[in-house]
Amino acid sequence: MASVEIRNVVKRYGALEVVHGVSAEIADGEFVALVGPSGCGKSTLLRMIAGLEEISDGAVVIGGDIVNEVAPKDRNISMVFQNYALYPHMTVAQNMAFALRLARLPKDEQKKKVGEAATMLGLEGLLERYPGQLSGGQRQRVAMGRAIVRRPEVFLFDEPLSNLDAKLRVQMRAEIKGLHQRLRTTSIYVTHDQIEAMTMADRIVVMRDGNVEQIGTPLELFDNPRNLFVASFIGSPS
Ligand code: ADP
Ligand code: MG
Repeated sequence: MASVEIRNVVKRYGALEVVHGVSAEIADGEFVALVGPSGCGKSTLLRMIAGLEEISDGAVVIGGDIVNEVAPKDRNISMVFQNYALYPHMTVAQNMAFALRLARLPKDEQKKKVGEAATMLGLEGLLERYPGQLSGGQRQRVAMGRAIVRRPEVFLFDEPLSNLDAKLRVQMRAEIKGLHQRLRTTSIYVTHDQIEAMTMADRIVVMRDGNVEQIGTPLELFDNPRNLFVASFIGSPS
């Protein structure tokens, strides 16, 4: 897997600066949650790490290499979004194999990798279905399957569970955590749900208005919040 380092990263949209020189180091194999109120810059930061958004200043370093100029597909990263983004005209198996097909992996290799991911996610019986024939939770599993078939060095999650009902959310948290324990893929997990962050993450990065307020383990943030903002954010029900 790979470490991820964010060095003084800035994002400007024209004259508007929305990320103001953020720094954080995520260790190889670590699961880090990125939390903060809506609009504080979480998705923007994640998209800059993925290469989906250009950075205005600073550097993104993955596995020791500055990747500012590296195309998203060459960053060895998989991203899981909130709105699944599955291809409706493709079966579950085809959706999961899509990146492998683009990479021109032989058909039998594709099938093997899709099979392995399907087993991990309990999707074995659903491979020939279309996304329209799946429940929300199943679709989210397919989106995860699509991300893990490539065995990337880094997973980026952007509020992947926020469209699911409360019960399913709790179940999927445990599944994502279980997958991480199994694969040890370095993970950055954006959520506005602090319970999710507290229960899943090794460390939490708290953002506000385009800045990092504090970085620490769940216990450190809970016991020693640096300021009232962190205290009330960590302590308030979602
Ligand atoms: P979060 O994911 O934490 O809710 P975002 O990263 O989506 O926040 O947005 C951070 C800020 O950047 C917000 O104020 C948002 O309005 C602004 N923003 C995001 N994308 C654009 C864009 N393409 N053009 C201008 N402003 C944007
Ligand atoms: Mg967002």
